[in-house]
Amino acid sequence: MTKQTTSGSERIERAVEMAKKAHAGQSRKTGEPYIIHPLAVKKILEEWGMDEDTIIAGILHDTVEDTSLSLDDIKKEFGSSVAFLVDGVTKLSTARNGMRDIDTYLPATRDNFLRLMIALGDDIRVLIIKLADRLHNLRTLSALPPEKQKKIAKESLEVFAPLADRLNMGLLRVEMADLAFKYVDPKRFDELKTLIEKYNKAAEKTLTKIKAEISAALKKEKIEFSISGRVKSVYSLHKKLAKHNQNINEIYDLTALRIIVNDITDCYLTLGIIHSLYMPMNGRIKDYIAMPKQNGYQSLHTTVITKDKKIVEIQIRTKEMHEYAEHGLAASFYYNEQKLTENYKKGKIEHLPTNLLWISELQMTAAKLREGKKVDLKKLKLNLFADKIFVYTPKGDIIDLPAGAMPLDFAYRLHSEIGDHVVGVKINGKMSNLNKKLEQGDVVEILTSKNQTPKQTWLDKIFTPHARAKLMRALNISARTAAGETIERPKKKRKPRKDTNS
Ligand code: MN
Repeated sequence: MTKQTTSGSERIERAVEMAKKAHAGQSRKTGEPYIIHPLAVKKILEEWGMDEDTIIAGILHDTVEDTSLSLDDIKKEFGSSVAFLVDGVTKLSTARNGMRDIDTYLPATRDNFLRLMIALGDDIRVLIIKLADRLHNLRTLSALPPEKQKKIAKESLEVFAPLADRLNMGLLRVEMADLAFKYVDPKRFDELKTLIEKYNKAAEKTLTKIKAEISAALKKEKIEFSISGRVKSVYSLHKKLAKHNQNINEIYDLTALRIIVNDITDCYLTLGIIHSLYMPMNGRIKDYIAMPKQNGYQSLHTTVITKDKKIVEIQIRTKEMHEYAEHGLAASFYYNEQKLTENYKKGKIEHLPTNLLWISELQMTAAKLREGKKVDLKKLKLNLFADKIFVYTPKGDIIDLPAGAMPLDFAYRLHSEIGDHVVGVKINGKMSNLNKKLEQGDVVEILTSKNQTPKQTWLDKIFTPHARAKLMRALNISARTAAGETIERPKKKRKPRKDTNS
């Protein structure tokens, strides 16, 4: 999807020269000159079909942080839009500075993510540059020391790959997740990769046969199509196996075919033809065309049993749907570039495709809460990650928690001082119970009192290990204190004994 028009533009050439000068003398951990990295980011953004300003900002994305170039220099040379994007990317990376310690790092991923979202609200293209930046860093991760590799890999799996998925950037998600998973769990990665290869090899004959059968049937009906095998990614298999108790026999999409046709009518015709050839599996027909996934993904899926009892998943979609499944948000930039207004380029996000409005919803809610305005929370249905919820403090800070979390989890997440002194909770402005599960988009206000002490019964009202550990610690301390033991100042305790002895 490389766009020929922009890659040779004079502005882009000027940006490359500017970056080369600025990074002169710097080198990467691989030993290569630093400029390799911004140029790789440029190439990725071009492949994604991004607009010229985004590509220029990608080329310059590390200059303000790491070189003597200033935002003003960039603004003078390339205008405020490019400067704005570079500033956004710089803010994202400074958010991660000072979090070098591996143990404190992952909790800090949350803050990093929040900053990400806040920067996003201004212009989603900031995130796209950040994703390209991260992709190249992952591709060259082997040059870093092992601790840093793990840290970056973990963050990529937990934050960036899910975001790529949320933006329906399928190719990026798969590449990022597999690159990162290899560092997070190398043994498991190798095991599963071998397993997938074994399965693919065993399925080769079946695939060749049914490809021929389907092709013949579609030609007979005069449907234009292309057909290919689709390989399952290692990380998605890992996640699926975890869901199915490691039972590989319950994974039905290990072997899959993808059929691309011209229009929606042909999608359904093709589905019918396939079901007349093979027996579809009960409950495995999914119509994501009529009901797209939340990230905008569209396709028909069906799992069939072939005549020799092999299970194959078949995906059917149009070219446009396929392009969007692979490139997601970036694809819509490509297709909609002509439609982009000056307003959009200034970062006004109401011009996002409708299936990505969740981004602006998240931002608007946070902004309204910050201004003390009322928000209709019923309207909000954000589901960024299936197992995560996003709730708000009354001031509009966004806190992410695992689904199932309750008010005490929220309180301990804010601070153990708050957790230890909880007397009640208001959810969306109404008094509520401590055992109420929090829901997506709730505004949670914790009420505290200095006189309150942690209670044993709270253990039933806690979901996260983090809050549990904090409460246990507080309970131990208060139990021992109640028994007359002063654990904080052991020296003082010995004092009276000395007195009696003398
Ligand atoms: Mn970079």
